[in-house]
This record gives sequence, C-alpha cells and structure tokens, in this order.
Amino acid sequence: MARETILALDLEGTLISNAVSQFPRPGLRQFLGFCGAAFESVYLYTAVRDERCGPIIQRLVEERFAPDWLLGIPLVQWDRSLKDLGNIPGVSVNDCLIVDDNPDYILEEQRSQWIAIAKFESPYPDTDRELEQVQRLLAERLAIG
Ligand SMILES: [Mg+2]
Repeated sequence: MARETILALDLEGTLISNAVSQFPRPGLRQFLGFCGAAFESVYLYTAVRDERCGPIIQRLVEERFAPDWLLGIPLVQWDRSLKDLGNIPGVSVNDCLIVDDNPDYILEEQRSQWIAIAKFESPYPDTDRELEQVQRLLAERLAIG
C-alpha cells in the first residue's frame, strides 16, 4: 500500500498568479498550513527559475500569505520538460502526489499521482476556492490510502 507522504506543489497558476504579478491565491496560507501538517515533506515543483523562486517565497512569507516554513521548501531539480516525480530525491513515485494546474507537465504513467487544480487566472477572483477544494481531495485521499 502506497504511503502518500510526499507532496509536490506547482507555483504559477496553482499557488500564485504567476512569477510576475505574484498574486497569492485565496486561502493560500490555510492550504499550506494543511500541507505542512498532513505530509512528511513538501516540495516546490515549478518551471520558475530557482533564483526567482527565493524572492517570491520571501515576499509571500513577509506579507503573511504563507507560513514561515515555506522559506525552507526544497525546489525539485528538473529539466523543465516534464514533472517526473522520480526527480524528487530518494522517494518512490507511488509515495508522491503532485498538485498542478497544467496537465502537459504530468507523465502519462504518473496521472494517478496528480491532483488537478483549475488554473488561477485573470481576473484572479477573491471568490476562488480551488485551494479549499484541493485540500478536501487531499484529505480524502490520505484517509483512504
Ligand atoms: Mg502552473
């Protein structure tokens, strides 16, 4: 039985608008709080360059849109083509889940590990509740697994 203890989170269109405007998605802090408590490890799996991620994360934490632990979140190293969960060091793919808005990044054989989220996009409504919805899905999935 898989123990889905590892979570990979996309950044743009999932947690924030994009790396330029950096609008936090409604419910971000609450969602990350859940993720940090429910999973043994949480990774950021993003096409945004590593050197740009640092300032984005710092700003989210400083403005209290994210918990402090986000400052230390590991960035998955990859070639920016497909988000192979095998790129997360030292884990079994079956122990990982990924939350991402873009199906094009997900390997066909890893679709079972993918939690889809609708893209957070303009006009970035305050009424967006996708993170709450994904939290419910994750909670259900962990309870079943
Ligand atoms: Mg995305």
